[in-house]
Amino acid sequence: MEKRTKYILAATAMLVFCINSTLVCGAKENNSPVDNEERSVFTRTDFAMDTPIAETLYTTGEDITEEITQVINDADAKWISWSEESSELYQINESSGEEFLLSDEMAGYLEKVMKLWEDSDGALDPTLGKLTQLWNLGGENPTVPEEEEIQDALAHTGFGSVELDGKSLTMEKGCTLDLGAAGKGIVCDEIISYLEQQPEVTAAIVNLGGSSVTAYGQKPDGSQWRVAVTDPRDTQGDYLGSVTIYGGEFLSTSGDYQRYIIEDGIRYHHILDPQTGYPARSGVTGVTVVCSNGLIADGLSTACFVLGWEKAEPLLEKYGADALFVDEEQHVYLTEGMKERFQLLKDNYSIQ
Ligand code: AMP
Ligand code: MG
Repeated sequence: MEKRTKYILAATAMLVFCINSTLVCGAKENNSPVDNEERSVFTRTDFAMDTPIAETLYTTGEDITEEITQVINDADAKWISWSEESSELYQINESSGEEFLLSDEMAGYLEKVMKLWEDSDGALDPTLGKLTQLWNLGGENPTVPEEEEIQDALAHTGFGSVELDGKSLTMEKGCTLDLGAAGKGIVCDEIISYLEQQPEVTAAIVNLGGSSVTAYGQKPDGSQWRVAVTDPRDTQGDYLGSVTIYGGEFLSTSGDYQRYIIEDGIRYHHILDPQTGYPARSGVTGVTVVCSNGLIADGLSTACFVLGWEKAEPLLEKYGADALFVDEEQHVYLTEGMKERFQLLKDNYSIQ
């Protein structure tokens, strides 16, 4: 099946889950505790940032789901994409070795990313650009590189290779930034900023590829949003479970099943351990994080995947985030806050 068609089908499945969840919760447009105005629900499945998108919008105004997709594409093209010449990230990487004056937005994003880098003891490392391009695990030609190539790519990474001082960024020559670990989260934050400027929108949920979800406002019946979590070892089958999120919250999932190759029976996935240069092996197959900022949720889920359940706990506490971890033995670990949000839907998994 063509990649795009497959993605559209995936987006439709995400949307159906959202709509079914609404029905399960008994939402009715004319029975709203929020207000008595006429409200419409618009849904849209789309394709942006190389991923399927599902949008559901509750509004007293026009259908602006197409504009939401535009916000996603604009944010990617303006800031995050490492391959599009228009993006600020591309220009930053082009000027490695020289001082670069950042936009206000990018300075804000990088400040948060670098704080997460420090707080995660380097598990989330935005300087892995050369290494992620070498593995190319999300691209056309993923490969298992030679050890020497990995060491070369690691040479200009890590603390000390980047200096951020307000809007001034200086990277060591040869250092390449990759914002893949936080990019969808940044886009989710942009979607919320856009929706906040639309007074007629009462609620919305936007799902980017099943891995980044943002909820806005309150559904007409006052019920919460339920987001499906993929079973890392049965990605086409039934969902592992669902997580409840509230308007203003973000959910991010990082997993070894999202982009990977299998060679000689070994799974090489796209979340790399900055210390070894190889895919992280913390025993975890998937991590889902919920918190009140998109960039942080996204960055945390990647960092937590690298760190594993035990080492990640203090980091999650520091950011007031809830999380669930799935491991190779089909165990599910939940933080205190996640216990109230998570519903397990598969009986071959057990909650620890
Ligand atoms: P996510 O899917 O949000 O967990 O992010 C994974 C993406 O972030 C990868 O496709 C890489 O582009 C990049 N990446 C991989 N490993 C790391 C890491 N340890 N720190 C920061 N970015 C990473
Ligand atoms: Mg991430």
